[in-house]
Amino acid sequence: MFAYRGDDYFAESVRVRDLAEACGTPFYCYSRAGIETAYRRYETAFRGLDVAICYALKANSNQAIIGLLAELGAGADVVSGGELRRALRARVAPEKIVFAGVAKTAPEIELALDAGIRQFNVESVPELEAISRIAAGRGQEAVVAFRINPDVDAHTHEKISTGKSEDKFGIPWRSARAAYRHAATLPGIRIAGVAMHIGSQILSLDPYAQAFGRIADLVADLRADGHAIDTIDLGGGLGVAYSNDQPSPPSANEYADLVRQTLGHLDCRFVIEPGRSIVAMAGVLVSRVIYVKEGSARQFLIIDAAMNDFLRPSMYGAYHHIAPAKRNGGPGVAYDVVGPVCETGDTFARNRTLPEQAAGDFVAIEGAGAYGSVMASGYNTRLNAPEILVAGDDYRVIRKRPDYDSLIDLDFVWGDGEKTC
Ligand SMILES: *Cc1c(COP(=O)(O)O)cnc(C)c1O
Repeated sequence: MFAYRGDDYFAESVRVRDLAEACGTPFYCYSRAGIETAYRRYETAFRGLDVAICYALKANSNQAIIGLLAELGAGADVVSGGELRRALRARVAPEKIVFAGVAKTAPEIELALDAGIRQFNVESVPELEAISRIAAGRGQEAVVAFRINPDVDAHTHEKISTGKSEDKFGIPWRSARAAYRHAATLPGIRIAGVAMHIGSQILSLDPYAQAFGRIADLVADLRADGHAIDTIDLGGGLGVAYSNDQPSPPSANEYADLVRQTLGHLDCRFVIEPGRSIVAMAGVLVSRVIYVKEGSARQFLIIDAAMNDFLRPSMYGAYHHIAPAKRNGGPGVAYDVVGPVCETGDTFARNRTLPEQAAGDFVAIEGAGAYGSVMASGYNTRLNAPEILVAGDDYRVIRKRPDYDSLIDLDFVWGDGEKTC
């Protein structure tokens, strides 16, 4: 995927410095082989089980990447009408699309019913009632699974933990039987199964084992109550190795073995929704050094990427490896690597030892394929970084850099503004 050949950093067989010179910086660079390999790992691991691999679009929703995964056979996990539109445009088969999220609106529910998606993962009773009303009103049947909150601690960052009782997601597993009983009385609803998703960047199988145990018990109870449960959606969340100092994440094989052991006897179809583990390590953010600044206490490496391009370091305190596009054999210098945005939080790394850098050099922030480009903002009126997909010795721009005029033209001065949005 990304590695040195000699002293030069390569994306597959393309020298990253050549890309930077051709396209300007900053930009995201993805490896097609990296994405494909990660997807195939799940496919291989789950062989023998009836599984739909529904890629979680929110990790990276570039049309080229969704399309590549759709060609490999992936479905999609979407959390908004926008993502649903992206999945359909990328030719993901509707019968492989699941729709999650706590706040599906009426237009989104109608869009999903029009498309004929596989399943709504329902997060509350009021949402279930809205889906029932809309589907019944159109003479349709919506296929639903309740997202169960199994109340387990995924031991991940608090902002991306979703399976504890205090999190906003799903319905508490203790109220699940009552919710299914209610669902069975509603028109326009067909109950297909149960769903869960306990968080992201999960680095141990233990929380999964606990949650799967609760789900297995619940499936037995629901069947005893007379519901036809034939699908279990396990969500996503498997972590990746951003750093050598963290526990290494479970492999897709270990994860699939746990599914076999804990849920295999239930004779269900499975859905899995991996996002991060498919794309994170298949992407880097390439940036140019603007200045090297001698602070009184530190050396700052000021680069042209910022927190608006890649939020994870400032939002989650996330560690990301930084690779210079050209290595030199020198002893290395400890830098604080920072962006141009007017916030101290616009820091990618503190006290990071890199080969000595000079203005004009390029660096690659690794592990940036997931929750990178999708979380970009326009803060400081910075243009969103374009995206490049590399395949072997070839590459294509898969998202262009926007231009300032079209950005600024979205605004109207008072006299030109209208009354509707
Ligand atoms: C975010 C999300 C995923 C994907 O999580 P990853 O950690 O990226 O694998 C899957 N399912 C749901 C419902 C999600 O919200």
